[in-house]
Amino acid sequence: MRILGIETSCDETGVALYDTERGLLADALYSQVAMHADFGGVVPELASRDHTRKLLPLIQQVLDDAGLGRGDLDGIAYTAGPGLVGALMVGASTAHGLALALGIPVLGVHHMEGHLLAPMLEDEAPAFPFVALLVSGGHTQLVEVRGLGEYRLLGESVDDAAGEAFDKAAKMLGLPYPGGPQVAKLAEAGDPARFRFPRPMTDRPGLDFSFSGLKTHTLTSVNALRDAGELDDRGRADIARAFEEAVVDTLVIKCRRALDQTGLKRLVVAGGVSANRRLRERLAIEVGKRRARTYYPRGRFCTDNGAMIAYVGAQRLLAGERDGTAMRAVPRWPLADLTPPTITA
Ligand code: ATP
Ligand code: MG
Ligand code: FE
Repeated sequence: MRILGIETSCDETGVALYDTERGLLADALYSQVAMHADFGGVVPELASRDHTRKLLPLIQQVLDDAGLGRGDLDGIAYTAGPGLVGALMVGASTAHGLALALGIPVLGVHHMEGHLLAPMLEDEAPAFPFVALLVSGGHTQLVEVRGLGEYRLLGESVDDAAGEAFDKAAKMLGLPYPGGPQVAKLAEAGDPARFRFPRPMTDRPGLDFSFSGLKTHTLTSVNALRDAGELDDRGRADIARAFEEAVVDTLVIKCRRALDQTGLKRLVVAGGVSANRRLRERLAIEVGKRRARTYYPRGRFCTDNGAMIAYVGAQRLLAGERDGTAMRAVPRWPLADLTPPTITA
């Protein structure tokens, strides 16, 4: 079964072709980051318009790359949510229009299920069951995964997502949007001993997170250095390092707890922040100590992409699940509401 995957939930237009027998055939991505950077964040209306401009050319591009035509498609999957409603509607309406014209099934899938299962596209894919840490721009969650659509939420952020905290810290440090990767780069030159930020919510049991306090801590530190006339490159790098250490340490502590609590030996880490090098270094050590293993998506599939949507859609379409005639765009949609594939006549 050859499935076209379409991702338009936020600020990247992602398209991919996945074959249930041969694997990933082609994928393409257009990022709107440069356009939104002028505004310091994603402008929803501009995002929708840009998806409208880029989506059809990208679909043509992946078909060309794979040497296929539209008639070779067996199904279409698109991100139905969560995300920006206007942006979601571009992908949903395009998917439904194409599917209707081609007479093939179409299915709206969950964006975070895409992130969660992105490591399945790798040669060494994790087997079920596993614990997943989803760390992206909008989510920080620990999930127990028993199978496709069997997700139990173990804990999540009570305020900001880890990626969001990275982006806000970047802004305070004078770095351009989206600052996560730039904070990480700046932190490499920082002295980990100069500042120590708190590890929120690690002093009590439980698997929830809180990252908004680290924002305040970053701001206070930036202001203190500025007042002292020490907000130079070194000072900014030291703050970035303290911030990154605090976020990474907090994530590692909770992952360790989640593995102990569930007794599972596999940890999947996905979403934009899973690209963070320091996080990977620390997890390698801590997860290794528990004789457990960590699985990641390849670099470009850590952030938003069409491949993860094509993959999830393929699994569910193969099992007989499909949309009715109405397209779906669901801005808020808890991951734990998902179920294993339901067969629709
Ligand atoms: P969601 O998936 O929750 O809807 P999103 O799609 O915006 O949110 P992703 O595209 O998965 O999120 O990830 C983007 C986030 O990852 C941004 O907040 C970005 O700063 C962060 N990020 C990317 N690379 C790194 C890195 N190396 N270190 C820290 N953060 C990073
Ligand atoms: Mg994004
Ligand atoms: Fe995402």
